[in-house]
Amino acid sequence: MRSFRHGIHPEEHKEATAHLPIERMPFVDRYVLPLSQHTGAPARPIVQRGDAVERGQLVAEPVGFVSTALASPVTGRIAAIGARRRPGGDLGEAIEIEADPFATQRFESQDPVDGSALSLGEFVSEVQRAGLVGMGGAAFPSHVKYAVPEGRRVRRLVINGCECEPYLTCDHRLMVERSEAVIRGTSILAEKLEVEEIVIGVEANKPDAIEALRAVSANGYDVRVAPLEVKYPQGAEKMLIKALFREEVPAGKLPLDLDILVNNVATMAALADWFDRRLPLIERVVTVAGPGVRSPSNLLVPIGTPVRDVLDHCGVDAETKEIVMGGPMMGQPLASIDVPVLKGTSGLLVFTEVATGRPNEYTCLKCGRCLEACSNFLNPSRLARLARAERYDEMERSFALDCMECGACSYTCPSNIPIVQLIRAAKTEIRRRKAPRP
Ligand code: SF4
Ligand code: SF4
Repeated sequence: MRSFRHGIHPEEHKEATAHLPIERMPFVDRYVLPLSQHTGAPARPIVQRGDAVERGQLVAEPVGFVSTALASPVTGRIAAIGARRRPGGDLGEAIEIEADPFATQRFESQDPVDGSALSLGEFVSEVQRAGLVGMGGAAFPSHVKYAVPEGRRVRRLVINGCECEPYLTCDHRLMVERSEAVIRGTSILAEKLEVEEIVIGVEANKPDAIEALRAVSANGYDVRVAPLEVKYPQGAEKMLIKALFREEVPAGKLPLDLDILVNNVATMAALADWFDRRLPLIERVVTVAGPGVRSPSNLLVPIGTPVRDVLDHCGVDAETKEIVMGGPMMGQPLASIDVPVLKGTSGLLVFTEVATGRPNEYTCLKCGRCLEACSNFLNPSRLARLARAERYDEMERSFALDCMECGACSYTCPSNIPIVQLIRAAKTEIRRRKAPRP
């Protein structure tokens, strides 16, 4: 089975939801759409308080190229535009929408658009208008990836169906239940970029997803579905490329430098929804799981739904100690559940023990486990020590900026040293120092 070197094998914890069909989350009263829920500049509202909006209607437009649009997840009325709490704990501008209790909330599909008839520039604008982002968690605007610069080419299109984080099964269910949409979106993009090879990488613990994708691919699509070893962080772009092609994206470079473009499976289904039905990115599948959830689920949730409503719907144990947005390795512990589900929210995990904090830190045993875990071949132990000593120049020379913050080193450390947290904070400081002064 193909894979990359190093990495870890955390317990999967996927059994509670892997077999559960996707269900639609019932509509709630209010939705909060932060204007910045993607990498880049926040979107700009094009509606005002009191305006009536339809489900799927554009409510905020991109500002500049690295920015993307936002559409209303419901038919209703703009209740407010102002500062609202975001999952990171800070405040940010958001559009609050009150759902119309009498609306059917059915999305009216429109005529499809033939992506192949568009120029690349038009295609990129379409994707930006749909508000598509990488749905694996990074929320990088998809159209920016598709705007291949002059003189460059994408020869290999890689679709990421690894879903290597424990607990999460939203992509798994999507590949099983919407395999046609995944393949359809993939073929739309592949045709537009005139790629030579298409590979979907799926970890071997999802045999039904592999089978479903292969069954659709056999219907005249030139798509290879490649089973991969179950290992974390297989879903990281550079690791996936290593596993599939045995090629390494050099430090500081991008997959495009190897003529490769990587996209998540959910983004491909969303791309098909836009070109085939004109459905913008207004909802996504979210895994709700963890020891503190009464009804673990894979829910189709409108973007902007308050986390509190999702948890109320699934039921949460009174002993709950921590709620994480995303996976347990790279997700974000929430300080408040009065924050919305975003385009990049793959999971809501409820823990009855604190999963992310690791008390009782001991001195480094020089055991080397963190080095064995790091698939980027960094020296996490040394980077953590340099970070504590604030020796940022040395950290940079030791490739600290190549750390993808996967957390494999911290997970494996017997001394509970918060390695990834130390490196993450130091990276922020290194970038701050390198940024041009105003
Ligand atoms: S968090 Fe960074 S240093 Fe630690 S294992 Fe991942 S890439 Fe390596
Ligand atoms: S795993 Fe922890 S204890 Fe072992 S070398 Fe790395 S930092 Fe030190």
